[in-house]
Amino acid sequence: MTEESPLLYQHSGKMGSAPLLVPVLGVPLLFVTSLIYGYIAVYSPIVGYLTVLILLGYVFVNGFGLALIARFARCRSERFLWLAGLGAGLVALYFSWAEFEHALINRYASGGQHVAQAEILLSPGAMWGVAGEIAAEGWYAVFGATPSGFVLWLMWLVEAGIIVGGVTLFTAAAISREVYCEDCGKWCGTAEECRLKIDPEFLTRPVESVSHAELLALPPQKGRAYPHVKAEVLCCEKCKQTTAMRFSRLTQEVNSDGKKEEKSQDIPGILLQPRE
Ligand SMILES: [Zn+2]
Repeated sequence: MTEESPLLYQHSGKMGSAPLLVPVLGVPLLFVTSLIYGYIAVYSPIVGYLTVLILLGYVFVNGFGLALIARFARCRSERFLWLAGLGAGLVALYFSWAEFEHALINRYASGGQHVAQAEILLSPGAMWGVAGEIAAEGWYAVFGATPSGFVLWLMWLVEAGIIVGGVTLFTAAAISREVYCEDCGKWCGTAEECRLKIDPEFLTRPVESVSHAELLALPPQKGRAYPHVKAEVLCCEKCKQTTAMRFSRLTQEVNSDGKKEEKSQDIPGILLQPRE
């Protein structure tokens, strides 16, 4: 490799304080959001599209929260974040079921049958049994039907996939576009941002095929017209020595409501500026 050839940034793989902080801060986060999610599911008068939005919100808040915790803990290991994300997704699934059953039993239980939070949380076997009972009869009506049995299990399976998969992916991606200065022990901030002009042919190509040499040769663009490439200079605020560039391709699309929406696509790889 010659001195001029572009260097791609790579995380050091160090875990920072993530093995401690992810569980210590993550589990309470998952517990609280699951509690809210479970109660909304049971008490929400509207079932349908809103349920899907609430599910996505639940996944987003947890994924976003875990990503924040990972960065706060200075985790530079993507492998750890994949595993932590998967673990968090499974914990979220477990908590959401526990809270859902807790809310459901306490709402519909006839006199004196209320159950305690901990009683459900600590008995996975009983949770599974209750799920089977709920599935046998179904518990809510949606679009004029009460799903039960196989259909309800299938819906739960899809929901479980979204929770576990979504939380895992969000957490795993927490640091994928970030640069860490190992000398100072700090994440780099965005120091500068500029727009680069691209031709229409550029848009037809997959972002993976774009080389960094090509990106660096793009002319600057005045004004905010779409499409363009956004180049961000990341810099360690302390030493000003660790400097890197990341790129994304920005286009504008008309969404289903007829409104214009910016669409951003990350161009893989973060270019590290060689040090003097
Ligand atoms: Zn630094």
